[in-house]
Amino acid sequence: MPAVLTTSAPEPIVYRVSMRAPASHEYEVEMRVPALPDRDRVDLVFAAWAPGSYMVRDFVRHVFGLEIADRRGRAFAPADVVRVDKQRWRIASAGRAFRVRYRVFAFEATVRTSFLDDSHAYWNGTSLFFFVDGELGRPCQVTVAPAKPSWRIATSLPPVTGRGAGRSLSYAAADFDELADSPFEVGTHARHAFSVGRTRFELALYGRTNADPARLVDILRRVVTATGRIFGGFPFRRYLFIVHALPVGSGGLEHRASVTMDIAGLSFEEEAGYVRFADLAAHEFFHVWNVKRIHDRALGPFDYTQECYTRLLWLYEGCTDYLAHVIILRAGVTRERQFLRMIADDWPRYAQRPGRNETSLEELSFEAWIKQYKPSENFTNRAVSYYEKGFWTAMALDLTLRLEGGGRRGLPEMIRWLWERFGRSGRPIADADVRAAAAAIAGRRLDRFFDRYVRGKDELPLPALLRRAGLKVVARAEWDDDDKPAGERDPVRSRRARAWTGLALHADRTTVRNVVPDSPAWRAGLTFNDEIVAVDGARVAAPTFARRIADHLPGAEVRVTFFRRDELQEANVRLSESPDRKLDVTVDPKAGARARTVRGGWFGV
Ligand SMILES: [Zn+2]
Repeated sequence: MPAVLTTSAPEPIVYRVSMRAPASHEYEVEMRVPALPDRDRVDLVFAAWAPGSYMVRDFVRHVFGLEIADRRGRAFAPADVVRVDKQRWRIASAGRAFRVRYRVFAFEATVRTSFLDDSHAYWNGTSLFFFVDGELGRPCQVTVAPAKPSWRIATSLPPVTGRGAGRSLSYAAADFDELADSPFEVGTHARHAFSVGRTRFELALYGRTNADPARLVDILRRVVTATGRIFGGFPFRRYLFIVHALPVGSGGLEHRASVTMDIAGLSFEEEAGYVRFADLAAHEFFHVWNVKRIHDRALGPFDYTQECYTRLLWLYEGCTDYLAHVIILRAGVTRERQFLRMIADDWPRYAQRPGRNETSLEELSFEAWIKQYKPSENFTNRAVSYYEKGFWTAMALDLTLRLEGGGRRGLPEMIRWLWERFGRSGRPIADADVRAAAAAIAGRRLDRFFDRYVRGKDELPLPALLRRAGLKVVARAEWDDDDKPAGERDPVRSRRARAWTGLALHADRTTVRNVVPDSPAWRAGLTFNDEIVAVDGARVAAPTFARRIADHLPGAEVRVTFFRRDELQEANVRLSESPDRKLDVTVDPKAGARARTVRGGWFGV
């Protein structure tokens, strides 16, 4: 406890962001640290990672030209500024106020980094701002000086009235966490806004797109309305969608009162583009609750300097990914038919991943920092994305909750339960609270579910659960085309499609991306990066490899010629029958009343 309690607010740390030469992709940042009389030395620290993206990125590698000076601009003596490690400087400030100046190279156009050129400026706070160790709770203020008179500023931070010279504007953050959690878009982006109840939503849309902006706004309105219905309102008065329309989309990064989404700008020539946009928006917006407010101790307040381990990424990302699909269905963006098609297409892909049951969901979450985001060749065989496994586990949990409780209450209600008891008041959750939430919704403990599928490595019983929820699920061999109309069947092709090697090649080359353990190719000794050049003496390229394999039936032996470290080699591969399956998923007209109730609750009908 401090010896003296004062009633005045602490003096803020004040930042100024300038962009005088945008074509150089360098921000000039000034940071003014107020006098801290009880501190002889102060540690200036740069974040190693961006919350929401679980990989150490060492943002400090883009920092140049660091200068530390006193309030009047006189440089500190070299002995008073000691770099302690890659991201930490120890300043012998003797309690005095001081000024920090530096440049940040910003040329990485992703949601979690910073970018500057003569078309716009974007930053995510962890890649631009130093913080003072021990002073994360101190208020912050940031003044932004846009590069051009025509540029405007979008951020969820409230403006500080009467501050900022010329065209620059100032914004206030309650603390460093809020500053770091409030990305800025500065440029000539299009602006749109709408309200739901008394909450205002804004869209800042940068870049070239063939999307109809009115349709994007309508989708956002539907998504936030359907999500707000789950939680009984919104935990803010204002929310900002920053959307970058780029050549290639790369996803989003969630914040408490805003989001940045990078989408493929020219992908709206068909409805699928709008569905992808809706799905991404629903995912990111669900994070407003799930992970930004409902989270365990590791994920807030953050330790920005190193990995923060949690066993719950499956809850934060898997459940969010799954519920986004449910939300856009309930919002009327997609129809039931599309939802069932998604299951039919994506479940077999997951169910054929060799590593899906090799690592538990809890471990996949914990190790994300060092495995999923730094994958070795073997990742596919021994692990799987916690998003993907989390998605199917979330669906299985939703159906299990409904089957236990009569159908009407499921995973959305379980997340709301966590919101009411933890997120709303800022109390962190623990692993046991997730089980308690499930028990509260199901009416009984579901420890067996968590022990088997979250902590354990059992195969998810998804097809069986889907059937109990009133769906008809039929698995077929990949080559079986009986499901097609008679005129579209191709008996020659379906006869040929049975043989299997277990090899996956890179899409554009004939080098081996993966060999499924215990598959024919594995037993023949083929491995990662082998460059396949011929099958039975016939030259192959990436598109023809599968066709030459399909010349043979399961049981046949083929000679595969390949280069390994530039030496020509051969292996005899005895083909087996493809284990690949496809799925038909339809509404079961003969489902009983109970199954129909579960299905109705699930789809929100
Ligand atoms: Zn996410």
